[in-house]
Amino acid sequence: MSTTQDFSWIQRLPKVSLHDHLDGGLQPATVVEIAGEIGHKLPADSAEELAAWFAEAADSRSLEKYLETFEHTLAVMQRAEDLRRVAREHVLTLAGDGVVYGEVRWAPEQHTAAGLTMEQAIEAVADGLHDGMEFIAHNGGRVLVNQIICAMRQNDRSLEVAQLAVKYRRIGVVGFDLAGPEDGFPASKHRAALDYVAEHFLPVTLHAGEAAGLESIRSALLDGRALRLGHGVRITEDFRYTTVGEIDPEGKLMPGADPAQPILQLGEAASWVKDRRITLEVCPHSNLQTDAAYAVSEGKPSTEEWARTYEQHPVAALREAGFSVAISPDNRLMSSTSITREFADLAKNFGYGAADFFELTVNAVEGAFVSMEEKQMLLRSIQGPYTQAIEAEAQAAQGGVSA
Ligand SMILES: [Zn+2]
Repeated sequence: MSTTQDFSWIQRLPKVSLHDHLDGGLQPATVVEIAGEIGHKLPADSAEELAAWFAEAADSRSLEKYLETFEHTLAVMQRAEDLRRVAREHVLTLAGDGVVYGEVRWAPEQHTAAGLTMEQAIEAVADGLHDGMEFIAHNGGRVLVNQIICAMRQNDRSLEVAQLAVKYRRIGVVGFDLAGPEDGFPASKHRAALDYVAEHFLPVTLHAGEAAGLESIRSALLDGRALRLGHGVRITEDFRYTTVGEIDPEGKLMPGADPAQPILQLGEAASWVKDRRITLEVCPHSNLQTDAAYAVSEGKPSTEEWARTYEQHPVAALREAGFSVAISPDNRLMSSTSITREFADLAKNFGYGAADFFELTVNAVEGAFVSMEEKQMLLRSIQGPYTQAIEAEAQAAQGGVSA
């Protein structure tokens, strides 16, 4: 492994982004520019100051505060041309992060303040994504970006939004999500919308197990029939630690095993998520900012303490427990992050290398809301670069690059 902390090789690895908010990934300069045009007052005047303000406000350790930062990004995403521009730029951002396949999510109902219909908003985003993909293709790159349409948990438009998500499948809408305040607004409140998308076999990923716990995850699985969980990190509430001695007091089931050896037992919901390969869209930096994940020490997640440092985040514990973990940025602007940065922090804090990043990316491909053929194509296209990176890492280790 390199000792110079040069992570440019990580930036070049092909990646898949499953949990990436359109309104959380704007360029600060774009926010400043559009705000100037429409007369929206911002908390800072320059792009640099604004970037710092977003990072600071998002560090407030509360999901509600974190969501407040979206007032400003949403304000500049109300005209069709602005939505189109932001979507186009998002594709360029993804490409710069090495993303080859992305699903960008956003909630049309939050983009009607200046008179757009939700239909017009979805079409504008589709146009922008198309512009961005075309630009990357013209420059010799390759990225495919689809949309996930979110309904807001605190509002009552979810059925209407679900109907639009199904209607706009033909222009790249591949999934449905519920976003906004999770606590107090379980998936069960949106039963009609969730039934509608299920009846039309539109895949569902739900924010769950982020700002609320196991009950919300259960509702996402039962009411939402979710195939992926947005974050889902509080699934650790369904972990029970016991010992060999407790399960097998007479030493008959596991002869010779140390009775003090700890064993992880998963509850029904956690077993379902693990065994059915429900993808966890894990976004560590975001979780650290909103107190969403329990702190892990000595391999065990706490039930009281929040993870406040990267090292305490349960991402490695979830992988070790067998969950299908995929790494996403959540909100690139608010969390000043990217998948490249998350991978680099996984390398620094957990010693992850190219083989780990390959597995995390394969998990993301498996969970992607695309056809089996598209997944196979994606897998084939990412295999070469990861194999090379794994070989380069092994060679560097053998060559004793240690000084
Ligand atoms: Zn999210």
